[in-house]
Amino acid sequence: MRPDRAKVKPPAELIPQHIHATVAATARQAGETTPMKGMMQHRPLRIIDILLHAAEAFADQGILSAHDTGEIHSQSYPQTLARAARAAHTLRALGVAEGDRVATLAWNGHRHLELYYAISGMGAVCHTLNPRLPADQLGYIIRHAEDSVLCVDASLLPVAEALRDALPAGLRVIVLADAGAVPDSPLDALCYEELLQGQPATFDWPHLPEDTASGLCYTSGTTGHPKGALYSQRSTVLHALTVPLAQTSSFVAGRRMMPVVPMFHVNAWGLPYTAPLTGMTLVMPGPHLDGASLWRLMEDTHVYSSWGVPTVWAGLLSEITAQGRAPSGFRDLIVGGSAAPPSMIEAYEGYGVTVSQAWGMTEMSPIGTHGMIPPPLQDAPLDRQMPIKTSAGRRKFGLEFKIVDDHGTAMPHDGTATGELYVRGNTVISGYFRNDQASAAAMDAAGWFGTGDVASITAEGQLVIRDRAKDLVKSGGEWISSIDLENAAISHPSIQACAVIAVPHPKWDERPVLVVVPQGDARPTLAEIHAHIAPHFAKSPLPDDLLFVDELPLTATGKISKLSLRAQFADYVLPDLREGTA
Ligand code: ADP
Repeated sequence: MRPDRAKVKPPAELIPQHIHATVAATARQAGETTPMKGMMQHRPLRIIDILLHAAEAFADQGILSAHDTGEIHSQSYPQTLARAARAAHTLRALGVAEGDRVATLAWNGHRHLELYYAISGMGAVCHTLNPRLPADQLGYIIRHAEDSVLCVDASLLPVAEALRDALPAGLRVIVLADAGAVPDSPLDALCYEELLQGQPATFDWPHLPEDTASGLCYTSGTTGHPKGALYSQRSTVLHALTVPLAQTSSFVAGRRMMPVVPMFHVNAWGLPYTAPLTGMTLVMPGPHLDGASLWRLMEDTHVYSSWGVPTVWAGLLSEITAQGRAPSGFRDLIVGGSAAPPSMIEAYEGYGVTVSQAWGMTEMSPIGTHGMIPPPLQDAPLDRQMPIKTSAGRRKFGLEFKIVDDHGTAMPHDGTATGELYVRGNTVISGYFRNDQASAAAMDAAGWFGTGDVASITAEGQLVIRDRAKDLVKSGGEWISSIDLENAAISHPSIQACAVIAVPHPKWDERPVLVVVPQGDARPTLAEIHAHIAPHFAKSPLPDDLLFVDELPLTATGKISKLSLRAQFADYVLPDLREGTA
């Protein structure tokens, strides 16, 4: 009897193409049939084709870039393509070859965008550096990646100078500044605009295999060293094609899109690719990301859609409240990176801004889900839409999700079963850059990537992130979601910001404690907060204590850093364990 093929071979999509060809040839020899090949052209996917397309099809769109001086620089896509060509010639003249890593240390701006396309377009790897990372991590990342050139904004030059002793020998530094405007520096820095002058405005962009590496981004190393996600031309283009399919509300040709998510981390969620692809103009906010600066820029440039993390949107919301209105034309807000509190969603909707969540990870290029309201509910009142708006949304095309129990067994998508979320697809890493140990720990035997998020998935495909596995509070054998508690507490009028951390307890294992930034001089009591939170839960996971702080520590990507908070309160003792109370 012929063996069941599924049991002896992994599915074809898991087999690398060259091995697949060998398997197919062997199968032919054995007299087995192989699928008939289509007769279509095969053009490798290339990132530069996005800009080539935008320059032709959307020549009247481009980039509006906020400079430090307050000036707004305007540049069309054809001009951007010409400058990307000049930048590619410049890098080639400096000796950059295909596969070399070229680092950028820059805010969201037109020069950074030119470099995105120039570096990947010439077949090199655009390695974005996050200036908010501690110096030891930045030094480690630059050496691990073996960057050959570093392109740095003038305002971030001090960050690079502080790394001077850690920089690899031979690294060339280019300052992204006007001719004659490079500050004095011990780094022997070159000037970007001077280098571009006189270079040709066209470049013979190579047709490389589509799995050629194109971008590199390291996760912020909360435990151990940062780990590199190495994107390819193919994964980046597929991500750019599939995000607008998922989040259709955001992408309208001729309108303006402002990525507040930084280009120095996870490619600004792919917006530098999706916006030109869909004919939108990019508004680049530069370094000033406080609520008042963002409000003014959005008002002046008529931003329609903007994407970013909740801490940024909390700042903008304060300014909107002060102004009494949202910036003109602002209609579409995407919140991701951490859970958006329901009270924030309701406040923005009250100002006429439609809010959707997105969930994703550095390792996923990064978008995994989109939270657009499906058609039957689009005209429903907000309270009926809120369960969807407060979930992470539905998976983007091209991704598969599974949630597994502690033994790795897949669990049903019934909205109740909860376990670690694993993902698979063309825009997910297959391992970490030059890090076999971390790769082996992250991937399961069937090639799925473990996200470290604990989630459930409803029968309708809505992903509900319960918590990061490491942020859950384990109390009396039950898991308490810190996200649920924070979402319930943040709507209390005396709380400006809050975060839940787990504190050890001899009887319960752990108990939740709420760290609070109060609103002005307010000092809510624990009893008041309990009364406020309790109606949100069937079985109430109430915090044991309130700890007041002036501000919450943030990670390098603008999220609340639970790691720093846990360290800050490492010596804290719960009220019922203090001497004389036990
Ligand atoms: P970092 O920027 O900290 O290096 P990532 O950007 O890759 O890391 O963060 C990914 C994590 O952020 C996810 O695993 C998840 O825990 C969290 N996250 C992202 N989006 C959401 C969301 N909409 N709701 C809840 N958590 C989110």
